[in-house]
Amino acid sequence: MLIKCPWCGDRALQEFSYQGDATVARPPEPADPADANWDDEWYQFVYLRDDPKGWHDEVWHHIQGCRKHFKARRHTVTHVIADTAPMSEELKGGDK
Ligand SMILES: [Zn+2]
Repeated sequence: MLIKCPWCGDRALQEFSYQGDATVARPPEPADPADANWDDEWYQFVYLRDDPKGWHDEVWHHIQGCRKHFKARRHTVTHVIADTAPMSEELKGGDK
């Protein structure tokens, strides 16, 4: 399987590390960490993830190459990658 790094081009899967769901938004920092709402938003941010069947936006790390993080839109059933992009850019392709 090849993954297209936005900076290096197509490289073998073994050069990359999956870093997680790119759609999860970090909750705002509480003024005092003891005030974090662990029953709701922080609990969901740290522990809960969707398990989608279909297109999913993910964060990948080119750990054995340029060592940059980027986003990829991957189909979780076929593993086809429709697009990759730097973290600051939008992904295209797939049916999202
Ligand atoms: Zn790279």
